[in-house]
Parts: sequence; C-alpha cells; structure tokens
Amino acid sequence: MTASDFSLELQEVSHAYGDLLAVDQVSLHVIAGEVICLLGPSGCGKSTVLRVAAGLEPLQRGRVLMGGNLVAEGSGGSIPPERRGVGLVFQDFALFPHLTVAGNVAFGLTHLDAGARAARIAEVLSQVDMEAYAGAYPHALSGGQQQRVALARALAPKPAILLLDEPFSGLDARLREQIRDDTLHILKRSGTATLMVTHDPEEAMFMADRIYLMEAGRVVQSGSPDMLYRRPVSPFVAHFFTALNVLHGIVEAGHVACAFGRLPAPGHAEGAAVEILVRPESLRVVLPGDRALSDHTTAGRLEEIRFLGSSKLLTVAMAGPDGAEMRLRIRHGGRYLPEIGGQILLQLEPEDSLIFAARKTLAGRHREASDKSPVLSGI
Ligand code: ADP
Repeated sequence: MTASDFSLELQEVSHAYGDLLAVDQVSLHVIAGEVICLLGPSGCGKSTVLRVAAGLEPLQRGRVLMGGNLVAEGSGGSIPPERRGVGLVFQDFALFPHLTVAGNVAFGLTHLDAGARAARIAEVLSQVDMEAYAGAYPHALSGGQQQRVALARALAPKPAILLLDEPFSGLDARLREQIRDDTLHILKRSGTATLMVTHDPEEAMFMADRIYLMEAGRVVQSGSPDMLYRRPVSPFVAHFFTALNVLHGIVEAGHVACAFGRLPAPGHAEGAAVEILVRPESLRVVLPGDRALSDHTTAGRLEEIRFLGSSKLLTVAMAGPDGAEMRLRIRHGGRYLPEIGGQILLQLEPEDSLIFAARKTLAGRHREASDKSPVLSGI
C-alpha cells in the first residue's frame, strides 16, 4: 500500500494551545471504505486532531495529506477547509434551523444545477431513510432524525473523507444503538473514508475497523478492536475497555503464581513484581459435572449477584495471597449458580490474563487486598 492509497494521512501532527501540548506527534491514516475511531478519555486531544485534519484548526507541526496530496504542512501553506472535500458531523448536528431538511442537505450542493441538486437530495435522504421529512424543519425532528439529516448533509457532496466528532453522544442510550448500526451501514455503503472521535470504548469497538487509542495527546496503541481488547500494550489500554480484576504476584522461573495457579509471564524479569489483570468475562464458573478442573481453578464464596439482563455480575470472595480476603468480579452468562454464601469454582485460561509490571508499592497492595470492595478497578 502506498501513501496515495490513504484518503487521509496525518504525519507527526502536534498542536499546542499556549503552553498546553494538546496533540503530540500523532500519525494516522484512513483508507476509502474504512471507519477509524479516535478513542480516548475526555481532554486527550481527539477533537483537536479532527479539527486539524478538517483545517478548522491551523496546523502547527507535521503534515496532513488527502488522497496522497499535501493539504497542510506545519512549516507552510494550507488548503482551506471548504476546499478539502471533507464532510463534517458534530455532536450537536449544527443544522440550520431556518432551513428545511432538504434545504440543509442542499447546502453543499450549490455546484449542481437545480435538477441534479434535487435528485441528489432525494437520493441521500433515501439513504438515511428521511425522504418523508424533506419539507420539515429541524425543530420538528427527533434527535435521531436530526443526526440522520446531519449525516445526509455531510454525505451529499460525496466527500472522500468524513469526519465525525462524537456524533451519537446527544442521543439517548436506546436510540444510540440503533442509529449507530444504521450509520455504520450508511458509511460502509458510501465507501467514504471515515474518521470518528468518541470517548466510548463500546462505540469504538462496534463502529471501527481500526482504533487509535489516545492518552494525553499521544496515540498509545492502534489496531483492530479485537487486538486492542485482547492484546493491550499497557494497563491504561486494558483498563480503558472494561473494568478489570487486579491480582498481584512475583515472577519466578518465567511464571507468576496467583489464586489461579502458575501463569506464564514471558518478558518479565525474574523476581519482578507484576499485576495480573483479568476481565470479568474471562473468569469461567465451573459447574457441577464439568470436568474442566485444571491447574487454573480456584474456589471462593459467592457473595453477590447483580442481574445485567443477558448476563449476571457476580462478586466472589476468596483468600488472597497474604491471607487477607479478596474479591473478584465475574460476568456469568449461564443460569446455574449456587446460593449466596455457597462455594463457587472459578477457572481462568492463562491466555486470558494480562500481565504488566506492577505499578503499586507493597504497602498499597496490602491496603487494596484488605479493602472490603472488590479488587477491581475501572468501574
Ligand atoms: P478531546 O476531544 O479528547 O476531549 P480536545 O482536543 O478537545 O480533547 O482538547 C485537548 C486539550 O486541549 C484539553 O485539555 C482542552 O481543554 C484543550 N483545548 C481544546 N481546545 C482548546 C482551545 N481552543 N483553547 C485552549 N485549550 C483548548
């Protein structure tokens, strides 16, 4: 793949607001038909990257290329936003209140004659299933309908690149799932290269072909949602996607011993203190009759069950390495469970454990282990 295959490419882009370095040497690319998510906590610089790509923020350092052509360089010139062939959708949809739906969509189509313009408006409104509302004004539409009009307006001029900034965050939770699904289909059908900003990991995993995860202005990991979820490069990345159980241990002969037996700890030095991160869905409840009693099984006491609809969140208490009681959280999909207070067997597949160098002092660990709350972080 060559650079000209990239619909959008950012090379080592940095951006400061006064003394605050909001974006620090971010490089990324998007190809036609791909949906890329820029993900990260609030304030990590995602919107700034998007605004620099759109040309709404002047480029300070680095390079922005579109279709292999340089559109902005930190040391020099820049093509203005309206000539970049980019569609934009923002969180508040920013529809023109005094224009009808058709009028809003017509906004970027002034280069077409009246007939072609009307045809394109009809086509794009049908794509987003809003033909029936062509004459309506934005205030008469629901949030979901406004979002679809904003998308239609952005797609109408057939931009090579679509930039979306938290496009679903103004919608309520139930509507959001449906609109995300619809939007993904529309984007995939349009073949546009899409760069979308979100702080919601579930949304990014649902929408993205690839994710760039940012922390404090830098991209800390990029790859497929599956890759970031299963092979996080740091505790920050691991914690960003779900709450995690945190166990501790010391590396001996390439392994670390914990409640679930000896787990391989490749790449960690002999004697190193490590933390073992385990996702609640990675712990399996071993049912009576299961013959899967492996070395990686341990018993605890079922303390609490919370119903989450399709699964349950269990709290299980067990003896920790230093004798103090510790608690783990398990996401359990099955129906059978012992009574509260009963014994429960848990199993961990070693490959589902994420092992990183420990970040806490021993004193901190003792405090955590004796705490009454689950040994869990990130909730
Ligand atoms: P995100 O989209 O990840 O929430 P932003 O790119 O909006 O992050 O902001 C990154 C950092 O830059 C934040 O600390 C924010 O307060 C700051 N920032 C954003 N825009 C401006 C601005 N126009 N002037 C000064 N600081 C800004």
